[in-house]
Order: sequence, then C-alpha cells, then structure tokens
Amino acid sequence: MKSIGLTGGIGSGKSTVARLFQKRGAYVIDVDVLAHLVEKPGSAVWNRIVECFGRKILSKDSTIDREALGGIVFRDNEKLKELNSIVHPAVFDEWRRRFDDIGSRDEKAIIISDVPLLIEVGWHMAVDMVILVYTSPNVQAERIMERNGCSYEEAEDRIRSQMPVDEKIPFADFVINNEGTPEETEAIVDRIWKELLK
Ligand code: ADP
Repeated sequence: MKSIGLTGGIGSGKSTVARLFQKRGAYVIDVDVLAHLVEKPGSAVWNRIVECFGRKILSKDSTIDREALGGIVFRDNEKLKELNSIVHPAVFDEWRRRFDDIGSRDEKAIIISDVPLLIEVGWHMAVDMVILVYTSPNVQAERIMERNGCSYEEAEDRIRSQMPVDEKIPFADFVINNEGTPEETEAIVDRIWKELLK
C-alpha cells in the first residue's frame, strides 16, 4: 500500500489532478468532502462552529455558509486557527477510518489524500510521498475567479491565507505544473502514475 499526499494552492487544480489519478486506479480521499461531512447540521463540529462564529455563518437550511465563514477566517488568521482546531481533529478521524478500510480491502492500494493544507498542518510527514500541483498565484487567482465567480480581491484573500506555493516545492517528491493545457497535465500524471506503480 502507498499513501500519497496531494496538495497545492487553492485553485491550482488538485481536484482535477485527483480525478486523473482516480481514473488510473488510485483511491482518492478528499478531505474537503470529509470536512463537509463532519460539519453537517447538528453534528458536534457544527455546534462548536456556531458557538464560535454565531448563527450569521449559517444558510437558511442551517448548513454552514462556507462563503460567509470564509469571509471571516480568510481575513483573520487567529479565527482561521480557531476554526481549524475545531474541524481538523474530526476530519482526521474520518480520514483514518476510510484509509484503514481501503487498506484492509486492498493491500496494493495507492491511496491519494487530497489535503489542501497538507504542509501547513504537518500532514506531509505522515505520508510516503507528496505530490504538489503547481500554478503561479496569478493563474490560481484567475481560475478561482472563474470557478467561484468571485472578485480578484476575494481570490487573493484565499491565496494569501495559505503558505506561498513556492515554499511548498521543497516538500514535494513530484511537482505537477498545471499551468499548461489539460492534455499536458494528463501526460505528467501518466508519468507519475507509472512511478507509483513501481
Ligand atoms: P483545486 O482543487 O486545487 O482548488 P480545481 O481542480 O477545482 O482546483 O481547479 C480550479 C479550476 O481550474 C477549475 O475550474 C478547473 O476546471 C480549472 N482547471 C484545472 N486545471 C486546468 C488546466 N490545466 N487548464 C485550465 N483550467 C484548469
């Protein structure tokens, strides 16, 4: 079994790259999906977030309004830390459960965990290899604006709340430059996939 951490700045193309590996036979665990799961209305995590940030971060259907919460935490690092201390342990427990489940079913599994803050939170030390999806901050901002329909300033806030992507390069075993066409990225993924199968 191989445990791979997939990371990169927001909007760099992690989810896109994760799907390409999945198509080739990797198991993908997306911690953003797990974060949504543990924040379901009524859960312990949901209760603590509401206690901490107030009901103003809730949508009409009581789910957490990620845009509203993001608007608070991406401008205030202390608040971001507080949110992370509520959400991360629950996400990690859920990740562990899934990871162990895959491992018990397939001893040759290549498990790719898509973790946006892999390096910021030190998770890179718990995986066998790190794959970094790289795009320059300008391309990141353009893709975030297009995907989320937000302003340049909002995209910048999100990018700035993370460690600069250039500083992440030394932690990576493989860097996927995703500034080119989807076909070019696919060719890089093919090369890495062959290495992972060795
Ligand atoms: P992340 O998961 O890192 O936040 P996504 O995979 O959602 O990033 O990619 C961000 C946006 O950029 C998406 O709209 C995606 O379709 C687009 N995208 C990803 N890779 C490319 C590429 N090579 N060329 C053009 N657009 C891309």
